[in-house]
Amino acid sequence: MDCKTACVLMSAAVDGEISFTEEQDFLLHLSQCKRCREEFDDAKKTKMIIKERIIRFRAPQALITTIMQLTDFNTRETEETLLYE
Ligand SMILES: [Zn+2]
Repeated sequence: MDCKTACVLMSAAVDGEISFTEEQDFLLHLSQCKRCREEFDDAKKTKMIIKERIIRFRAPQALITTIMQLTDFNTRETEETLLYE
């Protein structure tokens, strides 16, 4: 697996929505690639932050959907927005 494929699988992997075979390949790539490993850690952290926020504020479904879409497209930026807004 290369970084491009790992990047595509990243958000599905955070949600546990990839197949067993894909996950094996993905984790193998992470074990060899520091950049993707850090990216994956960030994605997991962001997902936790979003989850906490949704529970705390009981955000309407439309907002949740928007946040989820932002997460898919730009994990790092979303995380900063959520932390510092
Ligand atoms: Zn990589």
